[in-house]
Amino acid sequence: MNLLNGRKTARLLEENLKVRVEELKEKYGRVPKLVVVIVGNNPASLSYVRSKEKASRRVGINGETIRLDEHTTQAELLEVVYRLNCDLEVDGFIVQLPLPKHIDENIILNAIDSKKDVDGLSLLNAGKLMNRQKGLVPATPKGIMMLLEHYNVEFRGKYAVVVGRSNIVGCPMAKLLTNADATVTIAHRYTTDLAYFTKQADILVVATGVVNLITKEMVKKGAIVVDVGINRVNGKIVGDVDFENVKEVASMITPVPGGVGPMTISALIHNVVEAFLESHEKTV
Ligand code: NAD
Repeated sequence: MNLLNGRKTARLLEENLKVRVEELKEKYGRVPKLVVVIVGNNPASLSYVRSKEKASRRVGINGETIRLDEHTTQAELLEVVYRLNCDLEVDGFIVQLPLPKHIDENIILNAIDSKKDVDGLSLLNAGKLMNRQKGLVPATPKGIMMLLEHYNVEFRGKYAVVVGRSNIVGCPMAKLLTNADATVTIAHRYTTDLAYFTKQADILVVATGVVNLITKEMVKKGAIVVDVGINRVNGKIVGDVDFENVKEVASMITPVPGGVGPMTISALIHNVVEAFLESHEKTV
């Protein structure tokens, strides 16, 4: 079994990005800027935001976090989004999810200028991915593709199963794998006999938030297993895959933590650099 080491791969990709950022600074007189907007005090969100701040510093891009009170209204948050859309110094921004219940996430996500939508969650970027057009791709599935490509995983002709169908992970993941010439099945909470599908998968991506959903018996010998899940159990972070046993049958597997998480952050920073390049190509 080979470990798909996301932490190590992310650091390598960040080294390359750092060089690219230095070149951009030389050429355009400034570095790309990422703004993260966070509403409220969700501990998991605060921890993700800190990881994004640290990665921005490592790569040398300009990072700013806007912290808003959990009682911020939808109208107030929209004002912030409109201001960031117009701010010429901001190349990309994200509104950290989940948002408090009184705010409609879709309204906020669709108000983000698609050129600055580095989470790739606006309708325009989702549509571009669907139509195989160049756009900003959600960071988690993009990071997973970068990780698998780094380990020279072949996609063409392979059978891939994605468990989970969220707009953030499962659906864009399935589309990226399809675009890479895999044959893809999406499974979800209403799939009957999940094991029937997972047992046939050459590539298995699991993004459900259900601890130990995938056991050894559900995995084909030699499969490549990507565990996206982040679950807190007795103060420890675990994924959706029974790692200790599944690693006995998988040919490659991501650990949790240290697998998909760091790749998500790297992919986000990659998107910010891409957004910067897109806007400068148009204006210079
Ligand atoms: P979500 O709650 O939006 O979606 C969960 C999906 O899992 C749904 O489509 C649901 O149908 C499916 N599901 C639930 N129970 C199932 C079951 N018993 N069998 C089959 N399918 C089932 O979650 P999400 O935002 O897609 O995130 C999924 C997991 O990935 C969470 O643990 C989240 O914390 C984690 N996550 C990690 C990263 C990262 O960077 N590592 C990024 C995003 C999300």
